[in-house]
Formats: sequence, C-alpha cells, structure tokens
Amino acid sequence: MWTFYIPVKVTFGAGCAGSAADIVALYGNRPVLVTDKTLAALPAIQAVLAQFPNAPVFSEVEPNPTVANVDALAHLLRASEADAVLAIGGGSALDCAKAAACLACAREPSIRAFHSEGAKLSVAHLPVIAMPTTAGTGAEVTPFSVLDDREKGIKGPIAADALYPVHALVDPELTWSLPLYVTACTGLDALCHAIEGYWSKNHQPLCDLMAMEAARLIFANYEQVCQHPTDSEGRNALSYAALLAGIAFQLPKNAMVHACSYPLSTRFHLPHGAACAFTLEYAIKLNTPAMNGRMEAFAACCGFKTVPEMIACIRRFKRLGGLPCTLADAGIDPSAVDDLVAESFHPLMNNNPKPVTPEDLRQMYAELAT
Ligand code: ZN
Repeated sequence: MWTFYIPVKVTFGAGCAGSAADIVALYGNRPVLVTDKTLAALPAIQAVLAQFPNAPVFSEVEPNPTVANVDALAHLLRASEADAVLAIGGGSALDCAKAAACLACAREPSIRAFHSEGAKLSVAHLPVIAMPTTAGTGAEVTPFSVLDDREKGIKGPIAADALYPVHALVDPELTWSLPLYVTACTGLDALCHAIEGYWSKNHQPLCDLMAMEAARLIFANYEQVCQHPTDSEGRNALSYAALLAGIAFQLPKNAMVHACSYPLSTRFHLPHGAACAFTLEYAIKLNTPAMNGRMEAFAACCGFKTVPEMIACIRRFKRLGGLPCTLADAGIDPSAVDDLVAESFHPLMNNNPKPVTPEDLRQMYAELAT
C-alpha cells in the first residue's frame, strides 16, 4: 500500500522567470523577496527583483541557513504584513523562506521551538513561491527545511506539510552562470536524492520511476554541463532531474548518505552536496546486497552494465567537479572519525535498507582514508 502526494504547482521552462510577477500575483499583492547577497548581484536575478519594485528584499540568508536567519526573516514578514514570499536561490534561500513563512503565522518567537524543541508546525503559513537557481536540492517541491542552530550546534531538517511551497517556478536559465564546483555539488546532491528516495525503506513505485529517470538524466548530462556550462539542453535536463529527484525523495525521505552528511557539514563545512557525495559510493556498496536486485536494475536503467561501473562513474564525476574523495581532500583528520560516526545516527539512518552499525561507518571512513 502506498500514497502519493505533492501539493505544489510546478511551472518549468527556460525563460519562465520572466513570469515571476504574474505568478506571485496569484497568491498575494504584498510579497517579500528572499535571496542571498551573491545572487542579488547577478543580472538574471536582478531582472527578477526588478519585477517587484516596491517589495522588501531579504538577502541575509547564509549558506546553511541558520535559526537566526529564519527568525529575522519572519520578523520582516510580520512587520511588512507580507501575504506571499518569493524565494529565489539555492536550498539555503528556499529553506529559510519556507520556515519563516510558517514562523510568521505562529505564536513562537523563534523557529528553534520547531527545529530542536519538539513543537509541531501548524498548517497556517504564508504561500511560498520557490524559484531554484541551482539544479540540486529539490527544495522547491519538498516539505523540509534544513537549518543550522549555531548556538546549540544542531543541524538537521524540520519536516511538515506546511513547508511545501505553493508554486515552484523552475527556470533552467538561472543555473547557467553557476561555477563548476556549485554545478557539481548540487548535481550530485540531486543524484543522492534520487538514489536515497529509491532505496529508502519507504520507497514506492511512483517515486521509484521518478528517481530512476532523474538519475538517468544526471548520468547522461552532468559531464557535458560541467564542460559546457551554457549548454541549454544539458542545463534543462539537470534542472528537470533535480525537480524529479526532489519529488522522488520527498515522500520516501533520505537515508544514510544524508544522515552522514550533517556532521560533515557542521564540523568540516563541506557544502551539502559535497558532504552527501562523500559517502555515496560506500553507501551503494553497503546497500546493494540488501536490495534484492533493485540496485542492479537502477544501474541498468542509467546505462551501466554493473553497479561497480556506476560507482566508478560517480567517483569520476566527483573528481571532475573538484569534490573531495578522501579524508585528506576534505580536510578531515582521522582523529575526528569517532565523533563523525557518533553524530551520523540521525533518524534518517532508520530509512536505510541495510541497518547501519557504527562498525560499518568506521569501515567506510577507513576506506575514505586513501
Ligand atoms: Zn540533499
């Protein structure tokens, strides 16, 4: 038995950012725009911002958005009596906007109440229109917000239906100017979403289909886009793949690769996609025997004769994008491994098809030492 659900309207296509004002007007007439400082300086993003000459712009979102970012944005949303939020950015801007759109309608003064203190988000929230500028997180179609509580030292997701954006506006042209490293990190994050949604213990047939198609497109287009960043067909394919991968994991949820990524991001500041990709090959090796032939079918669908051939391709993709492949590459001293292992047992680990032991993770980090 399974249930499929996605309450997000999706508009997709090169150039659709030009319709941002029309789409936002469907939901409100006092929007607040959310982005980050680097993006706000780019001509393509300035063209979007220019469609809203009177709207307040919040550009204080940090990479790995913090509880303090969300609280500050919610304050602005209340103070400006906003009735809609347009979030433009990578996962950070989108996750910050999604959480703040909920907090703005709640009594609690800080998102911390919902992030680490056990309160449940209510359904009331401002509508969020999400415009991804990377092809990676899938945050435009997921009910999650990954936040970093710097004071408490806790990084992890909040999950609630209220966090779904109301509308995803996906314009692949916004990804054309991404540097190679960002294209690589976000592209491999999308691949992790496809694979984790597929092997999650909660996987289901509709999500499986989307996961396989997302991964097939990433394997077919990643190299071309890394080498030719303005290849429009390749960029379209990667944006579409990231969207599909987002839909593919938002119900089954992620597993060991994402669980292991959180301490790697908080302790060693690896970007989310690099942190996820860091353990992906080992996780595939570990999980394949527990999947009754499903991983072999996944690799075949992506054009590989064997799972090891797919693993070798992932390693090549990481090198091409400059992602860390060993502890030394990632700046991790082997003495940190015990802490990394201990902090990897996030609840997402329970979705893994093979039960993971601390010994498995120590073995993984031993292999990553060279
Ligand atoms: Zn991810």
